[in-house]
Amino acid sequence: ERIITAELRNEDLEIEASIRPKTLEDYIGQKKAKENLKVFIQAAKNRKEALDHVLLYGPPGLGKTTLANIIANEMQVNIKVTSGPAIEKPGDMAAILNNLNEGDLLFIDEVHRLNRHVEEILYPAMEDFTIDIVIGKGPGARSIRLDLPKFTLIGATTRAGLLTAPLRDRFGVIQRLEYYKTDELTKIVTRSAQVLGIKINTAGAEEIARRSRGTPRIANRLLKRVRDFAEVKFEGYIDEEVASAALESLEIDQMGLDRIDRKMLLAMIEKFGGGPVGIDTLAAAIGEENDTIEDVYEPFLIQLGFINRTPRGRVVTALGYKHFGIEQLHF
Ligand code: ADP
Repeated sequence: ERIITAELRNEDLEIEASIRPKTLEDYIGQKKAKENLKVFIQAAKNRKEALDHVLLYGPPGLGKTTLANIIANEMQVNIKVTSGPAIEKPGDMAAILNNLNEGDLLFIDEVHRLNRHVEEILYPAMEDFTIDIVIGKGPGARSIRLDLPKFTLIGATTRAGLLTAPLRDRFGVIQRLEYYKTDELTKIVTRSAQVLGIKINTAGAEEIARRSRGTPRIANRLLKRVRDFAEVKFEGYIDEEVASAALESLEIDQMGLDRIDRKMLLAMIEKFGGGPVGIDTLAAAIGEENDTIEDVYEPFLIQLGFINRTPRGRVVTALGYKHFGIEQLHF
């Protein structure tokens, strides 16, 4: 289990519950998404209508769930939270929809993982606010149409490409969340420290921000780890030196790479001359699954510009070489 994974871990639950921002004002960064949503929210409120259905996509830990809750708060409506894999049967989906009130928000995380039969219930629900339910079985079965309250669906996904076209087309607003810049993460760390009563200066917050892989969830988790370190060794105060020492001891380097990232990059450089190397070969060489490499390790390394995907396989870039201080050989 990696400390720098962007997926939600148990240790995050308590901290996230207390520091999750509740208003657009407190939601740091994501300027474009915020500007757009502000307009849509205001327009819907002026017309006294439900907000258009919203699809939020982007890597885990960037604030999709947080943003959904903020939208509910700004619209002053209730939010019901569920996830794609949690809704197993069309009847479950119908029941959830039927229990919504006018204007309510339904948040479905991992919306790309809805099964097809469940998804089909959503089409008329999103488009016309109706559902068709079948009563009885066999020749006597008949279908009746139920009207639903006007609700807003907010779908979140890490893999927009996996959404079916009919589902994607029914979202009026499609918004991508971006990795955060260091100055934005510095603000997030500073704000979290304030809420949690942690003593930290700007340089300390920035040191944590720099190594957080552009991801607020990771920044907050590292803040907590660094606090433990600071309390035991430095009377609880986090400055640049303390943050840096704590993160070094966690083996998270200047760019936020951990042992596994370095192992993969070094394997590519040392065993495959920097690539191109195919995903299967690389997976075998470092003893990992293909999917894990593609979904977990690679996106951040590509984002940093340390590796590239080419038709012939993965290659380490000049920047990737530079990170290790290794000279790139050209043949
Ligand atoms: P996602 O749903 O995209 O996986 P979350 O919404 O659960 O991500 O965000 C993870 C944590 O990061 C939240 O608990 C919140 O504290 C923090 N966070 C995310 N986005 C922001 C932001 N823009 N400003 C401040 N904190 C944020």
